[in-house]
Amino acid sequence: MYNKIKVMGMIIASMPVGEYDRRITILTTERGKISAFARGARRPTGALLACSQQFAFGEFYLYEGRDSYNLESADVKTYFGDIRNDMNGIYYGMYICEFALYMSRENVQPGQILNLLYVAMRALEKGQMPKKLVRRTFELRYLTEDGEMPELYSCMNCHREGLLEDEATRFDAEKGGVICDSCNLKNIGIRISRSALYTLQYIVSSPLEKLFGFTVSDSVLEEVDRVVDAWIKVRVGHSMKTEEMLDVF
Ligand SMILES: [Zn+2]
Repeated sequence: MYNKIKVMGMIIASMPVGEYDRRITILTTERGKISAFARGARRPTGALLACSQQFAFGEFYLYEGRDSYNLESADVKTYFGDIRNDMNGIYYGMYICEFALYMSRENVQPGQILNLLYVAMRALEKGQMPKKLVRRTFELRYLTEDGEMPELYSCMNCHREGLLEDEATRFDAEKGGVICDSCNLKNIGIRISRSALYTLQYIVSSPLEKLFGFTVSDSVLEEVDRVVDAWIKVRVGHSMKTEEMLDVF
């Protein structure tokens, strides 16, 4: 007997299989990352043609088999269609999906990840925030939600707080966070301005509904870019395939 279930989620990967089918991966609130077959999804008249596309977000009805799921139908709330207005937007959307695909686990759903994915995709769609800033904000917040938040509030060495009073601090990914100016005599790590530190603190702490509502100067964006890049190298240690497609178009 097959058990029918309903999950809330987003399709983060969709691959053609065989002649007419697709294999999809859905990031869900209820069961973390799950894979399912969408049978007949590539038939031009197939009922699953639209709702098995990458970026589809909504409620999915699945049959739970012994070791796989089958997509029966879906009530798609959005396809984030405006992302497709420019190629670069599509690739950023694909990158965000690939990051979530790589980082998420089956049957484990850390709290707010699906909501984070949703607000990041909406921010790409709106286009008010630079795409690179959307990406770096998404990544740092993802890692934070996943229990990998860097220390941004007190010095890793002397534990002094109130670092926003300093002219500048340094970020040392190997050590796990920021080091105050007076501690860092060897000038290791990445120098970050007060504005960049404030931005990083905002990214790890802001409510999700306000997370993508800010912008920064080009120089602060560069600092945030370097810090998050260094953090990912140390804590994730993997480059996503779609990364090389970003900002090509
Ligand atoms: Zn210190």
